[in-house]
Amino acid sequence: MLNIAELQQLITHLHEKYRDLDEGEVATYIPELGKANPDHFGICVYTVEGQEISIGDTGVEYTIQSICKPLAFAYALEDLGRDKTLMHVGVEPSGDSFNSIELDPVSRRPYNPMVNAGAIAVASLIKGENPEAGVGRFLERLCKATDRNLRVDQAVLQSETLTGSRNKAIAYLMHNFGVIDTEIEHTLHQYFSQCSVLVNTRDLALMAASIANLGENPVTGAEAFSVQYTRDVLATLFTCGMYNYAGEWAYRVGVPAKSGVSGGIMGVVNREAGIAVYSPRLDARGNSVRGIAVFRELAEECGLHAFDVFA
Ligand code: GLN
Repeated sequence: MLNIAELQQLITHLHEKYRDLDEGEVATYIPELGKANPDHFGICVYTVEGQEISIGDTGVEYTIQSICKPLAFAYALEDLGRDKTLMHVGVEPSGDSFNSIELDPVSRRPYNPMVNAGAIAVASLIKGENPEAGVGRFLERLCKATDRNLRVDQAVLQSETLTGSRNKAIAYLMHNFGVIDTEIEHTLHQYFSQCSVLVNTRDLALMAASIANLGENPVTGAEAFSVQYTRDVLATLFTCGMYNYAGEWAYRVGVPAKSGVSGGIMGVVNREAGIAVYSPRLDARGNSVRGIAVFRELAEECGLHAFDVFA
């Protein structure tokens, strides 16, 4: 890793370099997401010592979307342990898009916690006694991984609830195979609410830095994640976090990471730093175009690939 001044220089350079890259489209299948400003672009790095290096629109809020998935997976593991959690979700990359309607043909479980099916199964495990309790508890836990109060964007939640037929189909399919319980609407509310939590790019970098820092938030000192399961989260991020780009990402970037359809990408450089990039224009797989470009170059320049020989 570079020192702080060099890193600031590098991300400033990357921000400048990719600012004019305007390929890709803002997601509109959740209508509310279509209101995002396509030009917003922010890069933030948090070291495990709690130092922040930022450039661009790192304070702009957007919904976390699929980046909630690894965090919810961590909470399910903390609540239920490995054996029980893995009865409901696998850890195998699917090679398919995030919203594909498919289960493992043998086990009937969703392939992994990073695709929608797996995340809905995880939501059914961590939902509370009633819909508001489950969402409140998720928010409370997530707040420990940042230094701000977080809340759900009600407009996005409503937009996704009204248009989420595909996720509803996935949930009913899983119920049919006994992967999730009968409280299907409650589970979907939990999942849609988790995806609708408002964050900014600083939050995402700090959440990633908390995972990198053995579960401890490097700014507040709070225990955000149990160290017992950060390995599980990192392994599934590495193999499944970027959906049907996961293999290419592991090869070229080599940093466990998760993307979301609002345009964020969060990456964990274990024991070193959390990195987040925000830019809402997405490629066909639902990953931020500028996000991928920045991560690729940052990883190359700083020797961040997990298997780099000279770091
Ligand atoms: N809420 C979104 C959905 O379920 C999350 C997808 C994503 O960010 N890739 O479709």
